[in-house]
Amino acid sequence: MASRNIPIKYTEIFINNKFVKSIDGKVFSVIDSANEQKICDVQEGDEADINLAVEAAKNAFRFGSPWRTMDASKRGSLMYKLVELASRDKDYLARLETLHNGKPLAESQADVEFSIGCLRHYAGWADKIHGSVIPSDGPHMTITRKEPVGVVGQIIPWNYPLLMTAWKWGPALATGCTIVMKPSVNTPLTTLHMAALSKEAGFPDGVINIVPGRGSTAGNALSKHMDVNKIAFTGSTAIGKKIMKVAAETNLKRVSLELGGKSPLIILPDADIDEAVSFSQDAIYVTMGQCCSAGSRTLVHESIYDEFVKKSVEAAKKRKIGDPFEKDVNHGPMVSEKQFKRVMSYIETGKKEGAKIETGGNRWGTKGYFIEPTIFTEVKDSMEIARDEIFGPVQLIFKFSSMEEAFERANRTYYGLAAGIVTKNIDSALMFAQKVQAGSVWVNCWNSQRPQTPFGGYKESGFGRDLGEEGLNNYLETKTITIRVPQKNS
Ligand code: NAD
Repeated sequence: MASRNIPIKYTEIFINNKFVKSIDGKVFSVIDSANEQKICDVQEGDEADINLAVEAAKNAFRFGSPWRTMDASKRGSLMYKLVELASRDKDYLARLETLHNGKPLAESQADVEFSIGCLRHYAGWADKIHGSVIPSDGPHMTITRKEPVGVVGQIIPWNYPLLMTAWKWGPALATGCTIVMKPSVNTPLTTLHMAALSKEAGFPDGVINIVPGRGSTAGNALSKHMDVNKIAFTGSTAIGKKIMKVAAETNLKRVSLELGGKSPLIILPDADIDEAVSFSQDAIYVTMGQCCSAGSRTLVHESIYDEFVKKSVEAAKKRKIGDPFEKDVNHGPMVSEKQFKRVMSYIETGKKEGAKIETGGNRWGTKGYFIEPTIFTEVKDSMEIARDEIFGPVQLIFKFSSMEEAFERANRTYYGLAAGIVTKNIDSALMFAQKVQAGSVWVNCWNSQRPQTPFGGYKESGFGRDLGEEGLNNYLETKTITIRVPQKNS
């Protein structure tokens, strides 16, 4: 195993710019999924800790507070300072991300760059958010003001812990909200490091609060809290539905949901097969398939199907599995034992349903939660593995005979997060882009995203968009102010 000598600096709850212990003294262990060893214990937040964090965020948001009276450009400067500090620590952040998540170091480095780019993008927005003046109608003048929604609860998953921290903090801070974030118990470490950097950058007390903890306790407490004005959630569709219900039954807090997917990638007969194999493997195997926008259904035209399958199997076998810190390794372990078992059970289900394993399907090694890159063929759309989000390194390759058929099958899912097509024919690509029900469509590429490009789902993949100008809308209320204007001199 490559060196794991990474000092862990922050393992406590972060409230009011201080690291503190949990009220009831509970801790949870963070595990290195490449070797099953404990990395450290982290203070486990529960309802009482969430209450303290929300109180701090509410106080930081009170009318007249340092944060509320701060000039918007100063808010932007603090964010730029955070960008500078994250850039200073970027090697450490990337190593920490790989340590608690298991993704290959090169992927963590790319995530760090995207996270920094995202915060930089939103820092630029801080002093550019404004309302409008409505054309006058007789003796009234109306203006709209864009105001921060208030205290926001942010619940994030374990697959992109640092990136999700940046995606959620960026628009919340730019708009002037205050934050209580709950990271996943698998991967709290990079978020806690960012919390320390936010203090160093000079954000006032209570603007950013982090409570690591479990979903059913800390997450639920945040979702139902009467003083939380909005929940931004990224995670599974099942939990997204629960959160929406809790929000509706409490204070009707605003909700935005970035959920799961079962995204189709269509390969048309004119595609360059080698390039298409490469796109499709990038689409499914990034972060070992634990990616919400994974291209988990590859639909290939019958005229090139056999060659495509053959080349895909060869390419999957060439992927280098191993310690994610080692150079050239591009396939690490699953994030946890739970996720490992879940994916292995889907592989068993696929076999029982009659799908054919072309390669993989097994655990790799004896220590660590590694699963071989796996390819199934002879999959029917009705099978469980074709409908459910597996969230693992499992590619399903389907055969189609007409474009109409492919487009119709692409939409045959409850999800609608992403979709892609590989073709040289611009008409086919445009037709697909219009017909497919998905929040992101990629033509001759996959997962190409930037801080400026909105990202989110159709159908049960959620609603609301992260990133870009649209990402700000999740954190803003519009106030309409109408003023009567006297029509004659008094
Ligand atoms: P999850 O839904 O189990 O957990 C996500 C977060 O919600 C965690 O922090 C968890 O502790 C918390 N949570 C769990 N139960 C809760 C409850 N009852 N109340 C409040 N919070 C609760 O998902 P996961 O297994 O951590 O992540 C994988 C899922 O996330 C996949 O389905 C994936 O598609 C989705 N995801 C979506 C996106 C996106 O942008 N659309 C990005 C990343 C992950």
